Amino acid sequence: MEQIVYNHILVRFGELSTKGKNRNEFIRKLSDNIRQCCSDMPDLRYERTHDRLYIHLNGMDPNPLMDRLKDVFGISSYSLAVKVESDIEAIKKTAYQMSIQSDEDTFKVETRRNDKQFLMISDEVNRAVATVILKNSDKKVDVHHPKLRIQIEIRKECTYIMCWTVKGAQGYPVGVGGKALLLLSGGIDSPVAGYLTMKRGVEIEAVHFASPPYTSNAAKQKVLDLASKISGYQGKIKVHVIPFTEAQLAIYENCDESYAITIMRRMMVRIAERIASANKCLALVTGESVGQVASQTLESMQTINDVTKMPILRPVVTYDKIEIIELAKKIGTYETSILPFEDCCTIFDPKNPVTKPKIERAVKLEEKFDFESLLDECVKNEEVIVVKPVKENKNLF
Ligand code: ATP
Ligand code: MG
Repeated sequence: MEQIVYNHILVRFGELSTKGKNRNEFIRKLSDNIRQCCSDMPDLRYERTHDRLYIHLNGMDPNPLMDRLKDVFGISSYSLAVKVESDIEAIKKTAYQMSIQSDEDTFKVETRRNDKQFLMISDEVNRAVATVILKNSDKKVDVHHPKLRIQIEIRKECTYIMCWTVKGAQGYPVGVGGKALLLLSGGIDSPVAGYLTMKRGVEIEAVHFASPPYTSNAAKQKVLDLASKISGYQGKIKVHVIPFTEAQLAIYENCDESYAITIMRRMMVRIAERIASANKCLALVTGESVGQVASQTLESMQTINDVTKMPILRPVVTYDKIEIIELAKKIGTYETSILPFEDCCTIFDPKNPVTKPKIERAVKLEEKFDFESLLDECVKNEEVIVVKPVKENKNLF
């Protein structure tokens, strides 16, 4: 018997289907994102319907593509598929071939009849196909826990038969929710915060505060590596590196040591807000989590938040460190995050940071020096670097 040749991948949208009138835009964006993620595979052909996306492999090995689709947000699941005529004999033949190519001993046939003109109802197709497999093999039907699930989608023009379904990344296609600016440190939390933001369909740019020569070039590279790791979920990430040393030194000269961290954060947010506005980002994102460290109490968040009207998204705000670490491992940033490089905060680490900073006191301390011109200087000297994912030892985009 001839070998089955899988010639398509069928992509399901899941969550998108509930989004009413935004749906077309979502599907278009998802389709664009998939094309971008596969731009180095020019032979692929795409077809879109209101509830599915079909990728015609055109002779390509499906494995690299199956691997790549797992990082595209907005996909609920996808399957390797064979396209046949919408004819019951063709369907039976291919489904049977597919079943015997598998070593699994139990199966179930699941038909979805999109073309209501098709002469048999779904259940009749299930029975007809199952009968052929039962008659010609030792496989048994198991409707509750089948090891092999043969899925058949009958459409007017053609029918897709599948038996290998992979769970997608879920979420929304990156870009449908606009853009936000992630404050990216070299730590564990902020890359995870970036990942979770992208998962909700929000594209990100990143800003990193570096304090050379107190922080090294290797520390900066570590942050760029982290950005590169999460850039796989949206194609590329623009990283703004801000030379923050002057501002930090001024803070430590002019402010009480206990308020230094608070004031430094307020400066970071002010700068981030300017970068965000200049780059059409509608919100800031941080890796803050309530209670993790002295600077992350609600009082502290309030005092830091007070310098901006922009929403600050804190995707991991309620997560335990262990939960954040688990996610960091899953998305592949953990090993880089724990590399021991200096961070701008650790270098000027004050002995007794205040845990309940007051807005009025922060404002008073800031009146002691001309921080606005320092901020101007920081923004003016930003370095912009666009990072891309590194996978399979080559750039994908
Ligand atoms: P992370 O693991 O993300 O560094 P953390 O638990 O170490 O988080 P902090 O160092 O208090 O927390 O920082 C809180 C948040 O402030 C970070 O998650 C990040 O969003 C932002 N941040 C801190 N330092 C920097 C920096 N040098 N550049 C950009 N953002 C920063
Ligand atoms: Mg940190």
